[in-house]
Amino acid sequence: MQRLSDSDAVVAIVGGGPAGLLAAQRLAEAGHRVVVYEAQATVGRKFLVAGHGGFNLTNSEPLPDFATRYALHSVRFHELLGHFSPADLRQWTTDLGIATYVGTSGRVFPTAEYKPAQLLRAWVGRLVELGVEIRTRHRWLGFADATGLRLRNDATGEETTVCPAATVLALGGASWSKTGSDGRWTAALEHIGVQCVPFQPSNCGAEIAWSAFFQQKVKRTPLKNIALTCGSHTVRGELMLTEYGVEGTPVYALTPAIREALGHSTTATLLLNLKPDLTPTALRERLAQRRSGTSWASFLASALRLGPPIPTLLREVGPPILPTEPVALAHLLTHLPLPVSGLRPLEEAISTAGGVAWTEVNEHLMLQRRPGTFVAGEMLDWEAPTGGYLLQGCFSTGAWAAQGVTRWLRSTQQQ
Ligand SMILES: Cc1cc2nc3c(=O)[nH]c(=O)nc-3n(C[C@H](O)[C@H](O)[C@H](O)COP(=O)(O)OP(=O)(O)OC[C@H]3O[C@@H](n4cnc5c(N)ncnc54)[C@H](O)[C@@H]3O)c2cc1C
Repeated sequence: MQRLSDSDAVVAIVGGGPAGLLAAQRLAEAGHRVVVYEAQATVGRKFLVAGHGGFNLTNSEPLPDFATRYALHSVRFHELLGHFSPADLRQWTTDLGIATYVGTSGRVFPTAEYKPAQLLRAWVGRLVELGVEIRTRHRWLGFADATGLRLRNDATGEETTVCPAATVLALGGASWSKTGSDGRWTAALEHIGVQCVPFQPSNCGAEIAWSAFFQQKVKRTPLKNIALTCGSHTVRGELMLTEYGVEGTPVYALTPAIREALGHSTTATLLLNLKPDLTPTALRERLAQRRSGTSWASFLASALRLGPPIPTLLREVGPPILPTEPVALAHLLTHLPLPVSGLRPLEEAISTAGGVAWTEVNEHLMLQRRPGTFVAGEMLDWEAPTGGYLLQGCFSTGAWAAQGVTRWLRSTQQQ
């Protein structure tokens, strides 16, 4: 067993994703010796994956509204975001030499000349300058005694136990396991009695049993500028029709509502509004202008820009005989029912709900059952929509856990 002396006062960070690396940086800046243990050959793999489809770091939404994105945990996140805010995240990026800008939807991105790998390289460089030691291919296996961590060096197969002065676990959620976030860590936590809420896919596509004809004809087609409703929640954006169902920002944002609806019934209904910018009256008036002899398909395409694949979609999910009367047709075009039979698998999801239950941590994100061990990032049981809220949540919990470690070490030294 590798026992580190008190003078070493090493803080172990387990998991080299954004939450763990930010905690490492804050702790090193506060003067602690920090060692990061990461199971993969390199750190930040999911951070890089996040960068592929537009690297949305945070959002410019004002703080009170920002916090509501964390739904049930908005009060808690209001405090966490106050400690490491979206503005702090942008400043942190600037300090690494990477400029950011606010996109049209309020999302914050690095400017075009910067690739995600450059940001990660600059960050790791800063950590090394601060003296943070990064041990890759080191898999955490579980706890030992009061403060010990069992680790396996996957390069050599050697197993060791280290006893840091404090630990931050930042092991991620359970999607995209090839990035290292495989969720297998729950067993070690449950072994010491920590309750973990089962993982659920979040920010993922929804399955619809399209007919073979529809699948073949439509394949992947975007529907721009629509509104999608599930229960009492409505989201605007671009919907992507896919062979398995639907995906895109509005579907992702509605995953909690879809999940809840599927908990009560075998099908959740999404209501698609194809013309959210037109008032019902304006839409009815446009529909009333059709001349007899003009087919509905060409009229919808010319008068309302509802060309292919809309007629095919109407035939797929609309009534057997489409209404021709303007009031009824307007209602159908704004309340087109899409029957969802399930969410896409966990592995494909952008993020996961579930993880360490909030009742298991104190106000500093320290495990109640294991003093000196803190938890940060997606491994905690929270979810938020895409739009920069995920990374911001990981950074803010990482910074908060780091602050908790410093307080904890100070209090234990005073005893
Ligand atoms: C396709 C995709 C696109 C995304 N796009 C965005 C976006 O644009 N904006 C946004 O805000 N968010 C985005 N996200 C989400 C964001 O990337 C994650 O929320 C974030 O990376 C989670 O950070 P984390 O530090 O909590 O965990 P992770 O980044 O998952 O890191 C956890 C680390 O722990 C390591 N680990 C796990 N188990 C062990 C173990 N036993 N021992 C040692 N190490 C271990 C893993 O290898 C991993 O490196 C995206 C995610 C995906 C999949």
